[in-house]
Amino acid sequence: MIEKTARELLMERLRVGDARAWPTSPDTDIDAVIREALAGQPALRNCLYPTCMRQMDAMSTMNGKKPPRPEWSGAGWATLGSGALVGADRHICPDHKGTITAHYPRRLQLPNERWGIDCGCGWSPSPQRYAPILRAQWEQHLLEQDGSLPPAPPVPDPDVPGTRIPLAEHTADTLAELYDRLWDAESEWADLRDFARTCLNAYNTAVPALLGAKTALETLRSRIIVDSRDWTADKLDALLYAVLVGWNCENTDPAHTHNDIDCAGDQGLWRIAKQHGIPTDQTIQAGHHRWWIANAITVATKIEEQTR
Ligand SMILES: [Zn+2]
Ligand SMILES: [Zn+2]
Ligand SMILES: [Zn+2]
Repeated sequence: MIEKTARELLMERLRVGDARAWPTSPDTDIDAVIREALAGQPALRNCLYPTCMRQMDAMSTMNGKKPPRPEWSGAGWATLGSGALVGADRHICPDHKGTITAHYPRRLQLPNERWGIDCGCGWSPSPQRYAPILRAQWEQHLLEQDGSLPPAPPVPDPDVPGTRIPLAEHTADTLAELYDRLWDAESEWADLRDFARTCLNAYNTAVPALLGAKTALETLRSRIIVDSRDWTADKLDALLYAVLVGWNCENTDPAHTHNDIDCAGDQGLWRIAKQHGIPTDQTIQAGHHRWWIANAITVATKIEEQTR
């Protein structure tokens, strides 16, 4: 015997004679009833916290209506953002909002097509190639934190004393962990080698240029110093002298105090600027340029001493 659908049964039971008085047909009305019944269905969402049983009706929350049951209210619920690694469930009940905020599972994309989690508390599981495993590990971590699960034994880590396990006690898992570390180290090594190469190239270009500039500037400086010309008489001469030689004492020895006998003191540049009516900003700029040149020569000299 073929069973009748609910709709067919309803159609049979309808008193068609009465319905004739209405401007609609029984088909239209029954369809409207079914549609309304379906549309009114709650769409329940679970809290993503493992073991949490709270549910929220997304349908009534979205439409701003009263939920079919008061405990399905969406008030105070939150949703995790897209940077989190949580799979399909993203809803958090008001009870667990604080906990999930403290343990926000930031998704990390790692080398060698692996994934990781950077938990808000600082915890981080070992990288995995299949991301849903991380979700489960994060849930376990949450339950360990709230005391529902005993904490896991420490992961053997060659870098952490006391966690190294004897060779005979290694399992496939502990070896996989070590192989992962080896894998990481190898890819880091390749990155570092590239970085070192880039640094060396930059160094090999910059150092000859700096040493060449040092030679040129020092030659120019000694040429000026031995010249019989009065470098204070002309304004441009005074500025060139200020940058290439310096009107101030440049003794940086901490034991040195400026004096009138064997040093130029720290007011020489200002004196000469005043004498020629050089504006303050140009004077300050000349002081800066002098510093750059003196500093470049100091640095170049250090490099020469190191590579000698
Ligand atoms: Zn919850
Ligand atoms: Zn955490
Ligand atoms: Zn001095």
